[in-house]
Order: sequence, then structure tokens, then C-alpha cells
Amino acid sequence: MALKYCQGTACHTYTTKDRLRGTKDNKTFQTRRRSSFYYGGNFCSLNCQNDWFSDFGNKAIDHFGRLTEPKHLTEDNAWVKDYDWRVTADDSHRYFFVNKVTRERRPLTEEQYHDNNYNLNERIT
Ligand SMILES: [Zn+2]
Repeated sequence: MALKYCQGTACHTYTTKDRLRGTKDNKTFQTRRRSSFYYGGNFCSLNCQNDWFSDFGNKAIDHFGRLTEPKHLTEDNAWVKDYDWRVTADDSHRYFFVNKVTRERRPLTEEQYHDNNYNLNERIT
């Protein structure tokens, strides 16, 4: 698996032992490299994620669209997936959609539950 660098803008300034890399007389504190990152998939720590957001958050929000009015939770966009833990006769889970406004439940298969594209909410952009 390919290694990638933490995207934290100040990762190399945190002087931990594991960041000190290089040959004997030429060691420097360096940006961390990993095969995967727990924080947002791109950062080695919450500090690094916060550093990035502090430097680029405003630009990113302006680029992808800043909210200028509140979003509203309505019947049409209130569907979420959930399940009851081991409730069937054979001890498996019962999957369902539940509408957070009306409390209506609609059954789901396990496949539909895990399918991120399967959704009942209306797209409102
Ligand atoms: Zn980092």
C-alpha cells in the first residue's frame, strides 16, 4: 500500500521522536507518512486536521458553497437508516429506515442498509 503524507500544514513543527527522520548527521523533523490516516483520511492527528482547517477552512467553504440560510429538516429529507440489534428469531438485526420527523419506519434489507447510494431523501441542493 502506498504511503501518503499527513496534510497538516504544521505537522513537521511538532517535534515528536517519530517525526525526526533522515541519516545520522542530517536529521530533520518531517511531515508524518502513513498508509492511512484516522483523522478525515488525511491527517495524523486532530491537531493537524485543525491546523489545516484554520489555514484553509474559509477557502474550502467558499469553494464548495457557504450556507447563507438555515437548512430545514422536513418529512422529505428526514430518512435515516437504523437497525434493531439481534431481534429476529435467528438472532440477526432488523434493518429499517426511520423518518425523524414523522417517526414512520420502512423495512430495509441488509444490502440496502449497507448501500450508501440507497436513500429515501429528496435531493435538495
Ligand atoms: Zn500530521
